[in-house]
Amino acid sequence: MTEWFSETLHPHWRQGFAANKVLFREKTEHQDLVIFENDTFGRVMMLDGVTQLTERDEFIYHEMIAHVPILGHGLARRVLIIGGGDGGTLREVLRHPSIEHCTMVEIDGAVVEMAKEHMPSVSAGAFDDPRCNLVIADGIEFVKAVEKPFDVIIIDSTDPFGPAEGLFTAEFYGHCEKILTPGGVLVVQAGVPFLQPSELSHIQRTLAANFRETTFYAITVPTYVGGMMTLGWASNDPTRKVPEPATLEKRFRDSGLTCRYYSPGVHAGAFALPGFIQDIRQTASLGA
Ligand code: SAM
Repeated sequence: MTEWFSETLHPHWRQGFAANKVLFREKTEHQDLVIFENDTFGRVMMLDGVTQLTERDEFIYHEMIAHVPILGHGLARRVLIIGGGDGGTLREVLRHPSIEHCTMVEIDGAVVEMAKEHMPSVSAGAFDDPRCNLVIADGIEFVKAVEKPFDVIIIDSTDPFGPAEGLFTAEFYGHCEKILTPGGVLVVQAGVPFLQPSELSHIQRTLAANFRETTFYAITVPTYVGGMMTLGWASNDPTRKVPEPATLEKRFRDSGLTCRYYSPGVHAGAFALPGFIQDIRQTASLGA
């Protein structure tokens, strides 16, 4: 009989997935992890009742969280990922031949192991890349202690509760700012602003306490329901966000990437935010 899994992220609206097969269901040391198969989206991972990724649409989020900061930066060699246990962001980061090193700090080793076993196409061997340094630890503690700096930091975390709560604070972003090289870029998953406006305004305020330039860019992922989702952008160098079109085209060509969502045009356009998202940012900046 078909079992249904409901997402419990939003208090008054739920999306449900029909599972034709449950592959893994267990309480790990940190969260409830379930991986199941759905006829429309392929294999689906949920943590604490929240959709993390599906095989069918993960490419959108992972291409955009990796290629926008790396190609916007232009000279990135060292990348830090906080979270990202499924390995999709790592996969996209390491597709850049110019990336020499990527440390990924994931709090929950079970997410890495179960994603490798049940959703192997997501990491696609990235954990075995000699440029990858996987650390199973709390990202909050890691950024306080690490010494060697990074050019790009990608915060690919769960939503701001449970183990991820402390990843959304001004203090955490302050530690990140200190371990970025000059001109470095930080990006952070910032939720679906139509349904989670307070998440966006909180991130706006806490990033702005640490960086000269903060903004958001928008992407559309079918299984992050409620309209566009946003990724936060922070840097002390305003030239990194949207380089000149010819420069961005050249960087993309030189990278040798072929993508299904990212393109230099999509990169630039993603920073053009609709009015209602600008309003949420504005209100946050005024401290309301
Ligand atoms: N791409 C998906 C998304 O947008 O939701 C998946 C994100 S990935 C699965 C999120 C990961 O962040 C989880 O594996 C979770 O264990 C990890 N995480 C949460 N809090 C963390 C922390 N404090 N330090 C390191 N990783 C953390």
